[in-house]
Amino acid sequence: MIVVMDADIIVIGLGAAGSYAAWNLACNGVDVLGLEAESLVHDDGAYAGESRLFRAAYHEGAHYVPLLLASRRAWLELADESPAPIFHDTGVLSIGSPADPRIEEVRRSLAEADIPHAVLSTPELAERYPQHQRLTDEIAVLDELGGALRPESAVTEIQRRARAAGAELRGHSPVLALEEAPDGVRVVTATGTLTAKQAIVTAGIWTPRLLPALAPHLTIKPISLTWFAPERPADFSPEVFPAFIRDRGPVHIFGVPTLDGSLVKAGYDAKLGDIAAPEDLGRRLPLAERDRIAHDVHELLPGLPESIARHSVHADIYTADKTPVIGRVSEHVTVGTGYSGHGFKFTPVFGDVLADTALGRTPEFDVSLFAPTRFRA
Ligand SMILES: Cc1cc2nc3c(=O)[nH]c(=O)nc-3n(C[C@H](O)[C@H](O)[C@H](O)COP(=O)(O)OP(=O)(O)OC[C@H]3O[C@@H](n4cnc5c(N)ncnc54)[C@H](O)[C@@H]3O)c2cc1C
Repeated sequence: MIVVMDADIIVIGLGAAGSYAAWNLACNGVDVLGLEAESLVHDDGAYAGESRLFRAAYHEGAHYVPLLLASRRAWLELADESPAPIFHDTGVLSIGSPADPRIEEVRRSLAEADIPHAVLSTPELAERYPQHQRLTDEIAVLDELGGALRPESAVTEIQRRARAAGAELRGHSPVLALEEAPDGVRVVTATGTLTAKQAIVTAGIWTPRLLPALAPHLTIKPISLTWFAPERPADFSPEVFPAFIRDRGPVHIFGVPTLDGSLVKAGYDAKLGDIAAPEDLGRRLPLAERDRIAHDVHELLPGLPESIARHSVHADIYTADKTPVIGRVSEHVTVGTGYSGHGFKFTPVFGDVLADTALGRTPEFDVSLFAPTRFRA
């Protein structure tokens, strides 16, 4: 009997990696259908919030560096033909004590991978980037391949390319359940059940709903973002102010130059506590948290006022070791999740790996560390 499927592969969740996987599959001639619960681009996804840091220097582990370099090449290609900005080539400063293990790891990973960089002494840092104040024994490592990605325009462009290559992408199409079938999967939506040979689940913080077996290994964490309106925005333009991460004692601040010519993103992740379900996410920061962040940011960057101009709270889904979960969970289902607050920059590589895995091909990169099977042990 010939079984007629609605698609070869259904991608559930069109954030950045899901959209990229759909694009890859369409380019490979696969009949791919992407289903997104919200609008095709929206601000409830883990990608929302104007910018995402891209770093080639990775204190999280040197094994990520080849994936980062390949992702960067792909981002630049995508940016080349995009009508909206996707990558701001600002470099990323890692600022901290030379004895801080994170600074040591950044220096080691840059040197080992021969990535262009500069190490600035405290006086050099003060002279070149006077926006950063209250430097004690802090040095800076400038990762020259780093920068700021524009997630909303990136997702828009990836989806545009996916559609141009033949993918069908449907917004406002939440998937209610995913069921294994003898020859593939059944994807239950509000308007009916669809069938496919394979499914890729890239549903972000909603993933445990569709794949409950992963739930014990995943935790939803809110992440806050804050912006400031400096009196002199030119001092924080991408030309003179690289994106940065600064670790000073317990304070871990990150920031991005002004991308709209008026607001500068800077701050740290407020302590909001894990949440049990996506619906529990509060989108506003308590006033006390806003005051604390504004005080700490102003102290280190006095050109930014001691009051927050804009803020928002988003969420990402974490694993205990902050290592992503990418691979097959069953014969017909592939998952990409658990990016643990650092996944956006890897979108092109993660998208390609997801597509290859669903097609039963060996991915270009060894991602065995990410395999969901690790939880069985
Ligand atoms: C505030 C914040 C700052 C961050 N900063 C950085 C950074 O600087 N650099 C970096 O590399 N990473 C960063 N990250 C991490 C990165 O943005 C995330 O890891 C990544 O975007 C997660 O992508 P995702 O595809 O898993 O989830 P999402 O982007 O949330 O995509 C999942 C999609 O699935 C859809 N969906 C859910 N359920 C269903 C369903 N049942 N049916 C259909 N569709 C469904 C959702 O609507 C959503 O569009 C940050 C994350 C946050 C939250």
